[in-house]
Amino acid sequence: MIGLPDALAGQVAVVGSGLAGLMTALTLAPQPVVLITRGAIGTQTSSAWAQGGIAASVGDDDSADLHLSDTLAAGDGLCDPHAASEIVAEGPALIATLERAGVSFDRDGAERLVRGLEAAHSRRRIIHASGDGAGAAIIAALVEAVANTPSITVLDAAEVRSLLTHDGAVSGLVICRGSETAAIMTSRVVLATGGVGGLYDATTNPMSNFGQGIALAARAGAKLADMEFVQFHPTGLDSARRPLALVSEAVRGEGATLVNDMGERFMSGSDGAELAPRDVVARAISAQLLLGRRVFLDARRALGGRFASRFPTIHMLCHEAGIDPAVDLIPVRPAVHYHMGGIATDLTGRSSVPGLWVVGEAASTGLHGANRLASNSLLEAAVLGMRAARDLGATSAGKLQSVPRIRSASAPDVTPVRAVVSRHLGVLRNADALREAITTLLPLAKTDGSATDPAIVALAIAVFAMLRKESRGAHARTDFPLRLPVSERHFMTLSDVFDVARAETHSFARSA
Ligand SMILES: Cc1cc2nc3c(=O)[nH]c(=O)nc-3n(C[C@H](O)[C@H](O)[C@H](O)COP(=O)(O)OP(=O)(O)OC[C@H]3O[C@@H](n4cnc5c(N)ncnc54)[C@H](O)[C@@H]3O)c2cc1C
Repeated sequence: MIGLPDALAGQVAVVGSGLAGLMTALTLAPQPVVLITRGAIGTQTSSAWAQGGIAASVGDDDSADLHLSDTLAAGDGLCDPHAASEIVAEGPALIATLERAGVSFDRDGAERLVRGLEAAHSRRRIIHASGDGAGAAIIAALVEAVANTPSITVLDAAEVRSLLTHDGAVSGLVICRGSETAAIMTSRVVLATGGVGGLYDATTNPMSNFGQGIALAARAGAKLADMEFVQFHPTGLDSARRPLALVSEAVRGEGATLVNDMGERFMSGSDGAELAPRDVVARAISAQLLLGRRVFLDARRALGGRFASRFPTIHMLCHEAGIDPAVDLIPVRPAVHYHMGGIATDLTGRSSVPGLWVVGEAASTGLHGANRLASNSLLEAAVLGMRAARDLGATSAGKLQSVPRIRSASAPDVTPVRAVVSRHLGVLRNADALREAITTLLPLAKTDGSATDPAIVALAIAVFAMLRKESRGAHARTDFPLRLPVSERHFMTLSDVFDVARAETHSFARSA
C-alpha cells in the first residue's frame, strides 16, 4: 500500500494534468485539491502537443456568433447549440485569463494577438504561442502556476484504476503507483483523462491515453454520449514513429496543397479544397490510399524557406524523419486525433453519477456534435475546467465512507484491443466489420483482466457506430453512405452497451 497523507481524504481529486485538469485545479485554489496524473505533471498529455492554438473570436472582423456558426457547421447537425454558444462565447475572456496565468500568446508589432486560420473557420481566430508550440507554452506556464499554488498536492506517476461508489454516488478512487495500490476516499472526483487515440495504431495522441477515464466512469454507471464520433486528423506524418507526428492544418492554412504520387492535386475540386472539414479531407486521403496511391503535403511553393520559422516544431519532426519541407514533399496519412464522444456532462462538467465531474476531451458536452471544429478543444478543456471548478467550489466534502478492502488491479494492456480497433473502427466502417469488432471485444470487456478497460471503450465505440446507420461528420458507413434527414445524439450506459453487443453477437452466431 502507498502511504498517503490522511489530509488528502475528502479533498477534490482531479485526475489528469492536461489543460482541463490543470485549469480545474488552479481555479479551485485556495481550496485543497489532489491532482493525480500518470506521468510527470503536464507530460503524456495531448495538451502539451497542441500546435495550432485556441480558437477565440478576438478579431474586429469576428464575433461569437460567427464562431458559433462555424462550430455548428462542422458539427454536422449534432451539436448542442446551447452548449456551443455558451462555450465559444467564453473564448476571448479565456485568452485573457491564460495570459494572467503566465501564458505569452504571440502578438504582432502593434501588440495585437496574432490570429491564425485553420480549416472550416470563416475568420482568422486561432491564437497561438511560440509559433506552433501553443500547447507546450500553455502547459509549461500552468505547471509553473501549480508549483506556486500550495493548495494543490500533486501525485505524479500514479494511475487511477477504479472509482469507488456508495449508493450510486462517488465515494473514492483507487490509485496505483508502481506495484503499490491505495484508495483516496472523497465524494468529489474530476476526470480530465483526455482522448482515446491510444486504442489505435495510427494516432497523434500519447499512446498511453486510451480513454481509461471513460472506462472508469462507465463502470461506475455514467452515461456515455456520441462514442462513435472519432476524428481522424487527415495529415499525420507518415513515418515509422509512434505516435504519428502531426502536420497541423495551419500548414494548409498557409497555402500548402495535397498531392498524390502522380502529382494530382486531388482536393482541388472539393468545396474549400485543402481547407475542407477534416472528415472530408481524411476520407479523400483514405480513398487515395485504398487506391494504392501515396499522399503528400506540398509546402515548397507556399512556405519554402519560411517553413522552419513559421512551423519550428513540425519542421523539427519532419527533420527527424529525414524530410526537409522546403524542398521535399511531406508524406501524410489519417491518424486518430480527437474524440468528440465521451462521458455525457452538463455545462458544469457534472456526469450522470453524483460526485463525478468530467472535463476536457474525456467529456461530451455537445459542443462538437459529429465533428470538432479545429482548435475548439483546448477552448472547451479550459472553459469546462473553470466551470467545473466554480461548481465544485459550492459543494462540500460531505460524509466520507470508510476505506474498503481493495485489491490491486492489473495494469491496462491495450495490445489485444489495438489490432481489432485499427482494423474495424477506422475512417470507413460497415456492419460486417463492426459486428466482428463487437464479437471480439465483448468477452474482453466482460472479463476482469488487463484488457478490460481498453475493451470497454472500444466496445462502446463499436456499438454506438453500429447503431448509427448513416454517415455524418466523422462517422462514415460505407453501407449507409447518406445522412438521415433527422438525426440525434445517442446516450447509453455500459449496461445498455453490453445489451446491444450481446444481441449483435447472438444474431451473428445465428446467421453464421
Ligand atoms: C498532436 C496534437 C495536436 C493538437 N492540436 C490542437 C490545437 O492546436 N488546438 C486544439 O484546440 N486542440 C488540439 N488538439 C487536441 C487537444 O490537444 C486535446 O483535445 C486537449 O488537449 C485535451 O486536453 P485534456 O486535458 O482533456 O487531456 P490531455 O491533455 O490529453 O491530458 C490527459 C491527462 O490525463 C492523464 N491520465 C489519463 N488516464 C489517467 C489515469 N487513469 N490516471 C491518471 N492519469 C491519467 C494523462 O496522463 C494526462 O495527464 C491536439 C491534439 C494532439 C494530439
